[in-house]
Parts: sequence; structure tokens; C-alpha cells
Amino acid sequence: MKRARVIAVALAAFASVTAHAPATVAAAPTTDCAPQNARVRAGAHVKERNQPSAAKAAAMEKDFRGKVQTLSANRTNWTKPLVIRVHFQVVHNGTEGNVPTRQLLKQLLVMNQGFAKQQIYFVPASVKRVKNAAWFSDPEGNEQAMKTALRKGGRADLNFYTADLGESLLGWATFPTDYAADPKLDGVVVHYQSLPGGAITNYNEGDTGTHEVGHWMGLYHTFQDGCGTAGDRVADTPEEESPAQGCPTGRDTCPAPGADPIHNFMDYSYDACMYEFTKGQGQRMREMWAAYRA
Ligand SMILES: [Zn+2]
Repeated sequence: MKRARVIAVALAAFASVTAHAPATVAAAPTTDCAPQNARVRAGAHVKERNQPSAAKAAAMEKDFRGKVQTLSANRTNWTKPLVIRVHFQVVHNGTEGNVPTRQLLKQLLVMNQGFAKQQIYFVPASVKRVKNAAWFSDPEGNEQAMKTALRKGGRADLNFYTADLGESLLGWATFPTDYAADPKLDGVVVHYQSLPGGAITNYNEGDTGTHEVGHWMGLYHTFQDGCGTAGDRVADTPEEESPAQGCPTGRDTCPAPGADPIHNFMDYSYDACMYEFTKGQGQRMREMWAAYRA
């Protein structure tokens, strides 16, 4: 009941959002600022430069655990509903990428379904449409300029950018632990063709958005650090050596108990294959929220 009501509120709010008129924003110089997380297409053979190193992940955990110790159990209770405002930033070139509002709405519904068991809900706060061919075709190279110009809200606001990420990259996100150092870069960027009904075969049901928001909420990939390690720091996701591709039922890459979590949103499986977060991931997201975004 509660879930349905929150989504209904979200839909009503979305209908009243006034989309900004397309605006042209001057292109800015590119930067070499690298994104922190990414999801890539199967077989793309893209080097995973966005996977945090074991050392970086360890440093992030140290900071996180230190903060969590000071929080009350009430603040990290994952069964309490959490409602998050979403600012859509639609970057296009005038002929491609101007994602219609109905498709943004479908994306929001997919996220709401994906996070529903975690009691996490997303409501639309704004839609901005920006015509900028350079940002559209190279959002990574233009990340600093694009986000500095467009980002809305504070640390609790989700900025959801859509643009053309090219032939291999589906999306990337910043972690909660990144916020303090560079608040303007906070948010997720996804390929506009990965939204529900998009053109990227096997990756066009909107789960790239769900995956990237998982990172934005503090989740690692299920294959973080590989077998026999601290992994994704979530106890109820079985260990996994490397990203799953497609939907390889029964895949089991680590000696530790449990088959690979190929149906988890934080793996690299096809959209049709991924449909769940675990209870442990829900708890981690809630602790991350309390530590960095509340
Ligand atoms: Zn990822």
C-alpha cells in the first residue's frame, strides 16, 4: 500500500513538472576528470578503469565505517521508507538524445520497482533539457563543465544525466564518499539509449539507471576485488571473480559458497537477467545515506 501510494504521488508530481525549454549552452574545455563507476556492454572489452582499486575501496570503507559508528540504529534502519528527489538533465544535440518525458517516467518506474523492496523511492523534482552537441557526444570528456553548469540540489538530490556515451559505455556514477570533495560532480550519467525502449539491444530496459543509482547509493559491483576478499562489503551477495555477461545461469567463479549473483543489479548481466538487490545491500545503502546524504 505504502509503496503504491508513493509511486502514485511520484506520477502526479511528474505530470506537473514543467520542462524547461531547450537551451543552448556554450561548450566548455574538456577535462581529464575520470568517472568513478561504470557499466559497460558485454563483449565491449573496455578496460575497467572505473572499477575502484582494492586500495581505494579500502580507504572508502575506512571512512564509511568511521562515520557509521557514530550513527544511531534508527537512522540506518533500512525498513523505513526513503524518498529521493530526482533532477533529470537531458543533454541532446538537437536531433538526437532529447528523451521524451514519458521515457523519463518509465525510467523512474523501473528504478522504483528495482528499489521497492529496499523501501527506497524516487520522485521527479525537475526536468532540464540542454542542447549542447559537445556534451551530448562526449559527456565523459566534458563531465566537469557539464555538471558544474547543470547540477541541481544538495547531497540528497539525485541528478540523472542522459547523453550519448558511445559504443561501449552504458553509464557511470559517483559514490557517496566522493561528494564532500567535489559536490558538483555528484550524480549518475547514463546512455540515453539505455532507457526503457531505447536502442541498445539487451540493455534497454532501464536497468543501467538502476545499477548506476546503486553506486550512487554506495554499492560496489558484486565482483569488486574478486574471490577471497572483502568483495562488495555485503555479506549476502555470494563472491564473484569477474563480471557476468549475458545471463549465465549457474555461473560460479569463486570457491566460497553460493553461485554468482548474476541476477543482482550490481553485476553486468543483461537487463532481462538482473532484477534484485539483497537485504544486505539495502542495509548498506541506508547506512551510506545516513553517513553521507541525510
Ligand atoms: Zn557499475
